[in-house]
Amino acid sequence: MAEVRVEKLIKSYGALKALNDVSLTFPDGGFFGLLGPSGSGKTTLLRAIAGFVIPDTGRVIIGEQPVENVPVEHREIGMVFQNYALFPNMSVADNVAFGLEVRKVPSADRKKRVAEALELVQLGHLGERKPHQLSGGQRQRVAMARAIVTQPRVLLLDEPLSALDKALRVDMQIELKRIQREIGITTIFVTHDQEEALTLSDQIGILKDGRVIRHGPPRAVYDDPRDEFTARFLGEANLFTGTPEDGGLRLRDGSLIAGTKAEKIAVRPENLEISETEPNTPNRLKAQLVQRVFGGAMGTCIINWQGETIKVIGRDKDLQGLSDTGPVWISWAAERTVELQA
Ligand code: ADP
Ligand code: MG
Repeated sequence: MAEVRVEKLIKSYGALKALNDVSLTFPDGGFFGLLGPSGSGKTTLLRAIAGFVIPDTGRVIIGEQPVENVPVEHREIGMVFQNYALFPNMSVADNVAFGLEVRKVPSADRKKRVAEALELVQLGHLGERKPHQLSGGQRQRVAMARAIVTQPRVLLLDEPLSALDKALRVDMQIELKRIQREIGITTIFVTHDQEEALTLSDQIGILKDGRVIRHGPPRAVYDDPRDEFTARFLGEANLFTGTPEDGGLRLRDGSLIAGTKAEKIAVRPENLEISETEPNTPNRLKAQLVQRVFGGAMGTCIINWQGETIKVIGRDKDLQGLSDTGPVWISWAAERTVELQA
């Protein structure tokens, strides 16, 4: 397997910089989730790693080897894209065997490796089927088998699950992670689904306008997003701005948020407490409960504070005692304050 590194990648299309000085390390054997809004450069970055896009400047290094002079077919990369075009007239087994044929792998070896790859994606019994005789999830597994059968050093997945419905997607996420663990391949996974990225990845990177604005372990980025874009893009965030003074942050309703010197802070909805009686904590705001939304195990409270909508998420059983609407207090532990760049 191999570590992948990109260094100072720039790729322009006319005046647009699809990649604007991107440097990242994708650890050997790791599962790296690339996140970002549509048009942020995710696909361009994957295509630059694969060799389909030639960067204007910067380098791609796979396993310590700069690959600018290595063509796509010699970069030892497996790929799965959202519209994973399988060959419709070929059987599942022949679809998977295709890459091996191109590489002139002898027939006996080919059969064995196709069988192993199909086994790995739990389609060992369906090798003779045609793609149209498979479900969406099964076709996705064939695409995975086809990508890994050549034993690549790196697996690039560009929104591979986004065509699947929610329930199937969750099954396939678990499946994808299992396969990746089993073969230990360096994987770079593009998604616009933040929950999917948090679930699957050991590292995530967030792209915006061709730049990496933040990267790290999912929990670290979630807990300390540092800027408003990341805070809002990755999960939900209630934002407060105010004037820093000696004792903390003075908000416009006059309340003082202790323990921070930032002008702009955020609190995740799940870190807010809600009560009808005034809590005995420094970080508390008087507000109005507008609506309580039942969501099964969890519930959401929609709150109006100074004309702004604040969201509180809690266990339904903790929220049951509340009236449906009326005056409330929201509060949070000081260590749950997230300081953001102003
Ligand atoms: P993402 O995958 O994050 O949605 P892309 O990498 O596909 O974003 O695209 C990044 C930006 O580069 C977009 O603005 C897109 O329109 C532009 N772009 C991508 N490929 C080309 C191309 N071949 N020609 C011109 N513009 C392109
Ligand atoms: Mg894309």
